[in-house]
Amino acid sequence: MGEAAKKLPRIVINEKFCKGCSICVDFCPTNVLEMKGSTVAVKDLGACTRCQLCDLRCPDFAIQVFD
Ligand code: SF4
Ligand code: SF4
Repeated sequence: MGEAAKKLPRIVINEKFCKGCSICVDFCPTNVLEMKGSTVAVKDLGACTRCQLCDLRCPDFAIQVFD
């Protein structure tokens, strides 16, 4: 890990709140998320731009992105 290593964001999914609607998956511009059964999962954290769209669009407050 050199100086150029980027710090990854942290994506927190509350599986109790997630109803599996996949809105966050559809809105993520860089394909970070995927459905795994009936809940969302992180597929490619390194691609996350911290745009917060998933967090803002989730109707159930089930996903949060921290810098
Ligand atoms: S938008 Fe919210 S409820 Fe829908 S799949 Fe994503 S985290 Fe789950
Ligand atoms: S913050 Fe943006 S880039 Fe990161 S997972 Fe959510 S929608 Fe995708």
